[in-house]
Amino acid sequence: MFSKGEPCDEHGNTLPEGTPPPPRTTADPEDWSPYEDDIQFKTADFLFRIDEMSQTNINYLLELWAWQSMKHGHTGPFSSYKEIYDMIDASSEGDAPWKCMKTTVPHDLPSTAPSWKKKEYEIWFRDPDVVLSNMLANPDFDGEFDTTPYVEVNANGKRRWSDFMSANFAWRQCGAMYVAGILGSDKTTVSVATGDVEYHPFYLSPGNLHNVARRGHRQGVIPIGFFAIPKSDRKYDSDPEFRKFKRQLFHASISAILSPLKAAMKKPVVRRCPDGHFRRVIYDLGPFIADYPEQVMLTGIVQGWCPRCTSLCNKLDPPSGPRRHDLTETLLEQFSGTQLWDEFGIDEDIVPFTCDFPRADIHELISSDLLHQVIKGTFKDHLVTWVGEYLELEHGRTGADKILDEIDRRIAATPLFPGLRRFKQGRRFKQWTGDDSKALMKVYLPAIVGFVPDEMVMCLGAFLDFCYIARRSDFDETTLNDLDAALARFHLHREIFRTTGVREESGFNLPRQHSLVHFRRNIEDFGALNGICSSITESRHITAVKKPWRRSSRFEALGQMLLTNQRLDKLAATKADFISRKMLPPECPPALRDKDEGEDGEPVDVERVLGNVVLARTRDRSYPRNLQDLATHIGIPSLPELTHYFLADQLSPDEEGYIDVEPTITSPISVFHSAAATFYAPSDPSGIRGMRRERIRSTPSWRGTGKRRDCAFVVEDESKPGFRGMSAVRVLLLFSFTYNDTTYPCALVEWFKKVGRSPDKITGMWNVVPECTRNGERLTTVIHLDSVLRAAHLIPVFGRQYLPPHFSHTWSLDVFEAFYVNKYADHHANEICF
Ligand SMILES: [Zn+2]
Repeated sequence: MFSKGEPCDEHGNTLPEGTPPPPRTTADPEDWSPYEDDIQFKTADFLFRIDEMSQTNINYLLELWAWQSMKHGHTGPFSSYKEIYDMIDASSEGDAPWKCMKTTVPHDLPSTAPSWKKKEYEIWFRDPDVVLSNMLANPDFDGEFDTTPYVEVNANGKRRWSDFMSANFAWRQCGAMYVAGILGSDKTTVSVATGDVEYHPFYLSPGNLHNVARRGHRQGVIPIGFFAIPKSDRKYDSDPEFRKFKRQLFHASISAILSPLKAAMKKPVVRRCPDGHFRRVIYDLGPFIADYPEQVMLTGIVQGWCPRCTSLCNKLDPPSGPRRHDLTETLLEQFSGTQLWDEFGIDEDIVPFTCDFPRADIHELISSDLLHQVIKGTFKDHLVTWVGEYLELEHGRTGADKILDEIDRRIAATPLFPGLRRFKQGRRFKQWTGDDSKALMKVYLPAIVGFVPDEMVMCLGAFLDFCYIARRSDFDETTLNDLDAALARFHLHREIFRTTGVREESGFNLPRQHSLVHFRRNIEDFGALNGICSSITESRHITAVKKPWRRSSRFEALGQMLLTNQRLDKLAATKADFISRKMLPPECPPALRDKDEGEDGEPVDVERVLGNVVLARTRDRSYPRNLQDLATHIGIPSLPELTHYFLADQLSPDEEGYIDVEPTITSPISVFHSAAATFYAPSDPSGIRGMRRERIRSTPSWRGTGKRRDCAFVVEDESKPGFRGMSAVRVLLLFSFTYNDTTYPCALVEWFKKVGRSPDKITGMWNVVPECTRNGERLTTVIHLDSVLRAAHLIPVFGRQYLPPHFSHTWSLDVFEAFYVNKYADHHANEICF
């Protein structure tokens, strides 16, 4: 018997322990074939993949190149775009050709048959085994890949769920190396002047890949099929026969596309892995990523019912027992089609594709989806809409509009924060994207306080807690219990929408909102949901569909798009091969970057230390270099005194406040407009190893909007949990000086103090107010940058008053008397600010 994931030779024989992986190729390290040399490969890669240059422009460039080369008696690397394309096509690396299958039209069809019946439908696909084999063999994924399911226990003895292979679904399987194909399908449209064109790609990703790689690596999720989208004359749109045809075509297509995997679901095959080793591999179907309409189609249920459990559609919460294929079959034997439809939510015409595969049950595979169920569904479509409906019930249309405008203004008055979107026109976008909703979540709660009943704020707060926990990349028993607790609070407080009349009749039988009850089980089965979210397939649409579409002639574009996809795959695979043969330098890992802040930032030296804050690399040259003049320049006369206090404290930290001989700072002072904070935040968009970097700004002029003085968390007592051991400060100046050969990076800060001993009961967020000295001045000190953790986001407690017209967000931190410490600013803030 083979143990899981043990290396073997290419015939499947176990290797002695410690045997190194066999070389991937015997090719000479100078062998660039099919390319002649590195110049040819790099040119092809640059023009086709990186620049996506048009054929006309490629030809023009190559012509110039040829003229230049001719002067020295040489030729250019290629003679035309066509030669480049042929060269890419000739490469066997990453080859997974597209094929087409067609539906057949019955020859005895009466002439009166509807037009949709008389058409042939094309389904484009590629062999999923070939695609999986290529992905498994990709050396790029070495280190981002698990060959064995594992159960990880953290330092406190608690089970952890993060990547797919750490979760129960993978663990339940046994035998050879387990490769579950994570599937995803989702319609997408490209807009043309003559109307929209719809495409329906079908994606595949091996479950062994780490979530970070699946999210960030172009080759981590690969399109393996494009479904036919049957269109009919409008009169057939609601025809049950047409609907049945579409659904059956969908299932038949998936089943046919995946059928090459079937044999290796029972008997292992030998495949190469990213580390170069061969392994005996057993395939399986993994979680399926889809939005609700697609889930309905996939599971063969009736719209309005739950794809995972047997709850009645008019009483979805709490969940009932799970749906299963065998249960459906029993019901099919006992009940009529109408009964099945009305009483069980089953569409008897659909046999799910999973019935064709061993072990698979579509109801178990349907995965919870953060984007459609939580972010777009429950938050935007339900809660934000309901708040608007409540205001209208309470204040009438005009009154509600006035309040909604004020909520908009409050959102626009939120101080800046790294990674925070500015809502210039507030909340009412024409087209909501998932990113808009995510951005709104960060600032919505403080903006509605005072305009809606407290319980509504508590309901939103409970939901946001659920959402932020669900979006983490790492779970243990405690986090899962927190998730349950947040959901219970959400269910309790959402009753306010019933009692206020918003949902009096319709209740909460909303499949997307109901799905929250299945999140815990899904995380336990499939690992962290941000690794299997439809945001992954949606962002893949851009490279797999939208960009290739733009490069096509737009006429019968699909064939050209598939070719583009294939060429891109080949170039990527060839490149990975050249890198693994050390012919090209390894691709630089994505740098730690504060991408949310744009390109304006100067480079910063990042030390790989867990959680540190460093000053920007270059000082700003417009400041005086001595303390006295600097104090005058910035209008804070106490700066020299405060800096000397700080230094004395640094030199003899034990003798609090007692200074024997005041040290004198004679070194020039350097002033900086920003500092970079680096910290571990794997749940947020982050760089390698989950490290995230952000800039804390303190500058007199920010993008023409006046001064920007960010706030930050200062750690005071690490033994206390969350914000209890911290304070919030506002950074007035970032500077450094040298004393006795030691450089002191420091910050002049204004302090805030906590209100009460726990977060505010209604919003769940800590309240702070400006901290003052006995004579009523703002408490201002100089602190070492070491004590700063990262930026903090303070949002005004707006109270009941309306903002004056033309209020600017840059004034907020100066004029309000109290602030919420925003725990929804990002995931890291959510994890530290409780
Ligand atoms: Zn359910």
